[in-house]
Amino acid sequence: MARVTLDTLRKEFDRGTIVAVDDLDLEIEDGEFVTVVGPSGCGKTTTLRMVAGLEEPTSGAVRFDDEDVTEVHAKERPVAMVFQNYALYPHKTVMENMAFGLKMSTDMTEDERRERVTEMAEMMGIEDLLDDKPDELSGGQKQRVALGRAIAREPEVFLFDEPLSNLDAKLRTEMRAEIQKLQKEFGVTAMYVTHDQEEAMTMGDRLAILNDGKLQQVGKPTEVYENPVNEFVAGFIGSPSMNFVDVTVETDGSSATIRNDDVGLAFELSDEYVAGHALENAPYTLGIRPENIRIVEEPTGDETLASTVEVVEPIGSDNYVHLAVNDDFLARSPPDVKPEAGDEVGVVFEEESIHLFDAETGEDVF
Ligand code: ATP
Repeated sequence: MARVTLDTLRKEFDRGTIVAVDDLDLEIEDGEFVTVVGPSGCGKTTTLRMVAGLEEPTSGAVRFDDEDVTEVHAKERPVAMVFQNYALYPHKTVMENMAFGLKMSTDMTEDERRERVTEMAEMMGIEDLLDDKPDELSGGQKQRVALGRAIAREPEVFLFDEPLSNLDAKLRTEMRAEIQKLQKEFGVTAMYVTHDQEEAMTMGDRLAILNDGKLQQVGKPTEVYENPVNEFVAGFIGSPSMNFVDVTVETDGSSATIRNDDVGLAFELSDEYVAGHALENAPYTLGIRPENIRIVEEPTGDETLASTVEVVEPIGSDNYVHLAVNDDFLARSPPDVKPEAGDEVGVVFEEESIHLFDAETGEDVF
């Protein structure tokens, strides 16, 4: 096992015109599972490849425990990588595929390799497939083989690059649980890259959120969900996404109102809220999650705002109610709150659920 440290890690491409990873600082504790998440092109894969030794940093360092491995060749690093496309050799059997890494990285005899692979295959429930070729396997089986091959090498660090993207939703859920179980069982430090925020929320001990090559926030999934540091993280983490409205705050220091006259939003904050937050007379972006919006089917006029229902999507456990606020504004309502398209409804925000972001920088203000 190893603690992995990324120290001001930077990767530029095309003579510095592309900054794929922008001075990233991140520490993954011994045995910890950290998920790196962000939109396409934010630098996730490049970061992972630098940890694996497959990409040379422009500057900065990668350390395993206290050892600087920045100059250490990929083959010499105690890491195993699992990819989206499985990276299995098509002409080799499952046994040969799983044994190949051991042949390259250890001095085990053939018998020892067979024994280790059989043991891993039993653990992964793929012992009946050892004589098959990858072509004969389903996507889930291929990924189990790739995982088994990675574990067989007894790495200190596990690196996952979107390993579940090619699997269907049900299998993905199953494999998520399986990967976490294996990681904990073997106590291997893991770095897991995904663009899927839901996967990130369910998998990591901590999440590291990247955007545009820059680290935005690191924290436990619930911390990040509840206290996003900026508008980007707030909008990226959570499904369906947080709703945003431009607002202005009018305050005299002891009372305050949040307003947006275009959408008819007027929201008086409580004295306690005003006392606890250094609000200014300024523009902000208000954020509220769909699950924190209450729909009142028979409005009294005392609600935060009035709106028209555009579409209602039942999802079984709840209803998604799309409202005519800005382009779209989504409320997640319990099954018994089911207005119809065209209905005029009241919309209530509770002040403990709102987020206010600086209108210019997007930083979370409170
Ligand atoms: P995705 O989820 O789409 O794989 P990512 O977050 O993994 O995206 P990277 O693949 O790390 O992102 O790419 C980050 C940026 O660096 C992108 O703008 C990409 O086009 C660029 N990039 C990556 N590899 C190279 C390369 N070899 N040469 C030039 N630019 C590159």
